[in-house]
Amino acid sequence: MKRIGILGYPLSHSISPEFQQAALDHHEIKATFHRWEVTADDLNSFFETIRDSNFIGASVTIPYKEKCLDLVDEITESARLIGAINCIVNRDNVLVGHNTDGSGFIRALKTKYGFEPSGKKVLIIGAGGAAKAIAYSLIQEGISQLTIANRTITRAEELAQRLERNGLKINSIKLDKQTLVAPLSNVDLIVNTTSIGMKNGPDPQHSPIPPDLIPQNAIINDIVYNPIETPLIKAAKLKQAPTIGGLDMLVYQGVEAFELWTKTLAPETIMYDAAQKALRS
Ligand code: NAP
Repeated sequence: MKRIGILGYPLSHSISPEFQQAALDHHEIKATFHRWEVTADDLNSFFETIRDSNFIGASVTIPYKEKCLDLVDEITESARLIGAINCIVNRDNVLVGHNTDGSGFIRALKTKYGFEPSGKKVLIIGAGGAAKAIAYSLIQEGISQLTIANRTITRAEELAQRLERNGLKINSIKLDKQTLVAPLSNVDLIVNTTSIGMKNGPDPQHSPIPPDLIPQNAIINDIVYNPIETPLIKAAKLKQAPTIGGLDMLVYQGVEAFELWTKTLAPETIMYDAAQKALRS
């Protein structure tokens, strides 16, 4: 039996096995999707065990997205520029590292919501790993303006500097009510990439943007997917602003990975429904 899996530690929160197995079963692909919960000490030896022709590939999640850069044989240009991989593909026993976080985020925006990033003004809240992949991909799509707001301003500045090599002037600001007023008044898309609002996270009850500042005419995209309706999404709905939840990005990064592993069109709706079911159970 062929093997695919998700690699991370811990993995109890992950719903990737449910929606990826649903996609494999739908296409009657004879492969099992595993949960590979591997400690940092065992990471190198784990890579030895997967190197055979039955290994199709893996999703990579926290805390190994950066560490795995050095453990695969090749990485794609976009994964190199983002500085992280979330997907490994076994191409004739050569392990290739990809990053589908940013491309999955963009695919969800375009295919599910008809949002074309080209020429748009964007505010990203947060400057961690997810922000990096999303910002890089939005710049590749030709956005016209980008502001990065983060609690730790130096992290926002570092990310802006790194991304400016791609040619767009980026504004980095501290995440607080005062400094958010101006960027929120003239923006097309707002993306929360912080852990604020996440179940069992550092601040599950709050929205990263004060509810009274949420604009009505910008799309509010919260990449936190548990709960499905975060405090930010709830507040945006009350303002009747258009919203996108984090489950879309999660499923579409998986859709892109599935297509890389199997060279088969992913059954998007089946994957989304299985993910939603897994999250609710
Ligand atoms: P990360 O690299 O650890 O970055 C965390 C970010 O959240 C940083 O900007 C951090 O700010 C900020 N933050 C954390 N606690 C905060 C608080 N109490 N107040 C203000 N800011 C706070 O994490 P990540 O990998 O980017 O993931 C971030 C979130 O995105 C997680 O909830 C994760 O589940 C979600 N995510 C979703 C998907 C998806 O497919 N939907 C994919 C990836 C990640 P500082 O720099 O100041 O610490």
